[in-house]
Amino acid sequence: MSARTPFVAGNWKMNLDRAAVHALCRHLAVLAAEKPPSRLGVFPPFVYLADVVAELSGTGIVVGAQTCHSRESGAYTGEISARMIRDVGASHVIVGHSERRQLCGETDAEVRARLDAALAAGLDVILCVGETLDERKADRTAAVVTGQLQAGLAGLPADTIARRLTLAYEPVWAIGTGLNATPAQAQEVHALLRARLAALAGDAAAQRVVVQYGGSVKPDNIAALAACPDVDGALVGGASLDFRSFAAIARLGASAPRPAGSDR
Ligand code: PGA
Repeated sequence: MSARTPFVAGNWKMNLDRAAVHALCRHLAVLAAEKPPSRLGVFPPFVYLADVVAELSGTGIVVGAQTCHSRESGAYTGEISARMIRDVGASHVIVGHSERRQLCGETDAEVRARLDAALAAGLDVILCVGETLDERKADRTAAVVTGQLQAGLAGLPADTIARRLTLAYEPVWAIGTGLNATPAQAQEVHALLRARLAALAGDAAAQRVVVQYGGSVKPDNIAALAACPDVDGALVGGASLDFRSFAAIARLGASAPRPAGSDR
């Protein structure tokens, strides 16, 4: 089994202002210099993306966008292409976040088009999957998350999946609600996702892919989640806006003993 370095990423959503972004970046640079056990990432609003890339340059912190359009350029008022995100120096993009699926009507096909555009532009991708409360109650969690995974990744080369993809399991009912999947619930879905990754791309690729947990991650629940063998860090919304919370999550996000080795 290959090793995976946990990846703790802050999804800032539509929050903060320029001064707060600047202050957070200064703190993040200090945190990065401490070399926490997790890889760190931030996903600012588009208008601050270039500033954050510049402020965090040389820190090793991943900087990415929260979405991208599926087309390279053209008459798409208000949209931002993957190539533009790459052009300002960001390296990653989140696709398929449940807020985009629910609020912006992004279907599995749309998510896939955006993922393909991101990869083509040279961006690495965090693909989000997750079930709603109704789907969980109807015992459809496995079908929903594996369906989203399949739609997002089927047909991609195993090497691309292994090297350029991060998965985030984010139960929709846990996002911004203060509710958490229990570690057992999270591990069950993470293990299922890894098994499906293995079916799609082979076991070696599946063992390399970081699978983050997301949904009301906080300093007081991250350690138990991170102790699950298939939970590799977190995608953090609300708690990433507060530097002390994010730093605590970054420090605890890899508290479990993990196999040594790879830098992913
Ligand atoms: P939350 O958001 O941590 O505020 O629940 C997580 C996410 O949407 O990525």
